[in-house]
Amino acid sequence: MTAQIPTDVAAVIAALTLAYPDADCTLDYVSPFQLLVATRLAAQCTDKRVNMVTPELFAHFPDAQSMSGADTAEIEAIIHPCGLAPTKASNISEMSKTLLRDFGGVVPGTIEELLKLPGVGRKTANLILGEVFGDKNAVVVDTHCTRLSYRLRLTDNHLPEKIEKDLRAILPEGTARGLCHRFVEHGRQVCTARSPRCTGCTLTELCPKRL
Ligand code: SF4
Repeated sequence: MTAQIPTDVAAVIAALTLAYPDADCTLDYVSPFQLLVATRLAAQCTDKRVNMVTPELFAHFPDAQSMSGADTAEIEAIIHPCGLAPTKASNISEMSKTLLRDFGGVVPGTIEELLKLPGVGRKTANLILGEVFGDKNAVVVDTHCTRLSYRLRLTDNHLPEKIEKDLRAILPEGTARGLCHRFVEHGRQVCTARSPRCTGCTLTELCPKRL
C-alpha cells in the first residue's frame, strides 16, 4: 500500500489567500443579533436571498426584544422566500426569547453559551465567534468547508464536528477563519459540488482530488 502524502496545508492557505484576498462573510447585518438571525435563515438558502429578506425583517424587529415579542406568523410571512419558514420562524422566536431571558438580549461570546440558544449549532456559534468576537481560529464547517476539506484530504471525516476537530489539529494559529471564508469562495466559483473545475484550479498541483 502506497503511503499517502499529506496535503501541504500551508501552501493551500497561501494559494487561496492569493486567489481570494478579500473573502469575508457575505451576510448583511448591523449587530451580532442580526448576524445570528441571518445565519439561521441561511440554512439551505443562499446568502444572496437572505440579504434580500433581512432588510424588511430587521426594519420590523431589529433586536432580541422586538423579535421575541413578534407573532411567529408575521416572522414567517417575511422570511418565506428563504424556505423552511415555519421552522425558521419558530427557531428565531425561541432563540430571541432565550437570548432576552438568559443573556439580557446580548449575544454571548463563548461557544458554550452560544450553543444554549435554540437552533444554534457549532457552525453558527463559530461564525459568531469569528465575525463578532474576532476569533481568527473559529472553524466554520459549512457545506463548502466539508466538501473541500475532504477533496483536499485535510480530513477523512464527513461529520462537521469531526471535520472541525481535524482542521483545528492541522491549521496554523490564526488561519482558520480566513481559510473558511476562502473555502466558500472557492467552493462557489471553482470546486463546485457537481462539477469541480480541476483544470486551471489554483490548487491543482496541491490537491489529491478525492472526488
Ligand atoms: S483541484 Fe479540483 S478537487 Fe481540488 S480543489 Fe481544485 S477543483 Fe477542487
